Amino acid sequence: MEGGKLLIFSAPSGSGKTTIVQYLLQQPELNLAFSVSATSRPQRGDEVEGVNYYYMSAEEFIEQIKKEEFLEWEEVYRDNFYGTLKSEVERLWAEGKNVIFDIDVAGGLRIKRKFPEQTLAVFVKPPSIDELKIRLKKRSTESDDKINMRIAKASVELATEPLFDAVIKNYDLTEALHEAHRMVAEYVGAPPPEFDDK
Ligand code: 5GP
Repeated sequence: MEGGKLLIFSAPSGSGKTTIVQYLLQQPELNLAFSVSATSRPQRGDEVEGVNYYYMSAEEFIEQIKKEEFLEWEEVYRDNFYGTLKSEVERLWAEGKNVIFDIDVAGGLRIKRKFPEQTLAVFVKPPSIDELKIRLKKRSTESDDKINMRIAKASVELATEPLFDAVIKNYDLTEALHEAHRMVAEYVGAPPPEFDDK
């Protein structure tokens, strides 16, 4: 496999990485396309098949693992598998795109290890675990149990920050978006964005 650049945004759930990734996708000069992951977790209300994820049963997911269809995969939460299909990255590279990922820390680092020369791995850092709890509760798409599971995982993931190429502190969203934009523009060789802030 070879092709364009890979941009990985990994962070604990609730850090705001999805917002950052969606913002970057709207910048045409970055020539980005989103890697749609496969998952066995249930579809949330506002999500769309093939846009947010490719949804499949755990059995179907395990079948794809056996067939070595994944670049990386992870049982992120119990019985909830998530993975990047090789075919997805190949499809986007064939379109001449740089590929951007919104995936968990372990998966992000695995892709970085596979493609060290063409991957920028960015860690999005939330202000604190307490703030993460507030954000996840506000989102209120999940039960307390699920939220607690995400928070437990977040504590472990926060320790992996030094393994990434770059860190974005998401304390102020506008600043975080601008920093991400500057960073990715430089990495893909696009003109530097101009903002009113410093
Ligand atoms: P959510 O259920 O909130 O959509 O995602 C849960 C976690 O799984 C998030 O941290 C998300 O980034 C991660 N994730 C999504 N897709 C993938 C993937 O393809 N591989 C891995 N390793 N993690 C993923």
